[in-house]
Amino acid sequence: MDLSDSPAEAAFRAEARAWLTANRPDPPLPSGDTATGFALHVEWERMLFDAGWSVVSWPRRYGGREASLVEWLIFEEEYYRAGAPQRVTQNGIFLLAPALFRFGTAEQQNRLLPRMAAAQDLWCQGWSEPEAGSDLAAIRSRALRDERAGGWLLSGQKTWTTRGAFCTHLFGLFRTDAQAPRHRGLTYFLVPLDAEGVTVRGFGRLDGDEGFADVFFDDVFVPDDAVLGEVDQGWHVAMATTGSERGLTLRSPGRFRHTARRLVHLATTRGDDLDPLLADEVVQGWMAAEAYHLFTLRQVTDMLEGRDPGQASSLNKLFWSELDVRLHTTALELLGPAGELDGPWSRGFQFALAGPIYAGTNEIQRTIVAERLLGLPRK
Ligand SMILES: Cc1cc2nc3c(=O)[nH]c(=O)nc-3n(C[C@H](O)[C@H](O)[C@H](O)COP(=O)(O)OP(=O)(O)OC[C@H]3O[C@@H](n4cnc5c(N)ncnc54)[C@H](O)[C@@H]3O)c2cc1C
Repeated sequence: MDLSDSPAEAAFRAEARAWLTANRPDPPLPSGDTATGFALHVEWERMLFDAGWSVVSWPRRYGGREASLVEWLIFEEEYYRAGAPQRVTQNGIFLLAPALFRFGTAEQQNRLLPRMAAAQDLWCQGWSEPEAGSDLAAIRSRALRDERAGGWLLSGQKTWTTRGAFCTHLFGLFRTDAQAPRHRGLTYFLVPLDAEGVTVRGFGRLDGDEGFADVFFDDVFVPDDAVLGEVDQGWHVAMATTGSERGLTLRSPGRFRHTARRLVHLATTRGDDLDPLLADEVVQGWMAAEAYHLFTLRQVTDMLEGRDPGQASSLNKLFWSELDVRLHTTALELLGPAGELDGPWSRGFQFALAGPIYAGTNEIQRTIVAERLLGLPRK
């Protein structure tokens, strides 16, 4: 693979860089996981959309600019480089949209994608439940067929829904066949959170942000066109798109290269008496971020040549989540006691600690790598 930009890619990069430099909020917005911060982030998302930058790789008819996968990576790199705001639309555009493109009907795509791109509908992910985290197939929330009304009645509870307290819609798995084997009787539903019978109860995180929510469903009616994919095939739809969450789209390398560059800057501005062991950690962290970048370029090449990365996204997830903890730990060591004060590094560290948990815990990813990539025997 030629790692330098082609003339068209260089022009794309220059255009993205110029727009982001001119328009990114300065000073940075408050956290998008607070009520005030979220509203400001939505304004930013709408600005991105108006300028054609909210979903660069999507078809034009849905608000994209049909950028290639490589251009998408370039945009991500420039986005983080500019220090632009976190994407509060990410669960929609990065997690639900790939499923909609693959499994949605034309009607669903036309109805949902443009509103998602324009940050009019804001989506959260409703998979986890109090008794179903790693063991996701233990889901108890159910959907009962309402034949007369032509739809479904949802009941149960979802938890840990990121920014659920502020979003307008939820995509989630519900049990539609209680008799079927656990993975088979689930269906993927698209639910407006203002539907009658939905109660959203936000709760705070340890870091003070307040966007998490429990979402309760009490006989919530949704019509048939709220089903994504086939009835009872929700597991298949969900698993086919977990690669988006673990791999490229949710956590592109631009994010970690930017953190690594900030770390190098921090180290080099702290004077000459840097502990050699700490200096070594900085260099190792920077190299690991570059390695992740190169690894994803190889994945992109595979994808462009028609090879599905499949379960390899579990490797990405293990790598980026542990890299993020490592980069932030090194930064806090560099900062010494001052690192414990509230600031970007200490907040970043607190969030990095969640990386090995969300998007499927790292213990589960290691089992996937062992069994499905390395072919080791199952327990
Ligand atoms: C910041 C953050 C955001 C999140 N956002 C969302 C969201 O938007 N929507 C959503 O649906 N969920 C969300 N989650 C929930 C997340 O998906 C779950 O926390 C995760 O799947 C783990 O489930 P659990 O918390 O129930 O832990 P458990 O499944 O109870 O696991 C507890 C521990 O046991 C280990 N363990 C469990 N089973 C096994 C096994 N078979 N082998 C080896 N070890 C095992 C786990 O690795 C973990 O260390 C979020 C979580 C976090 C931290």
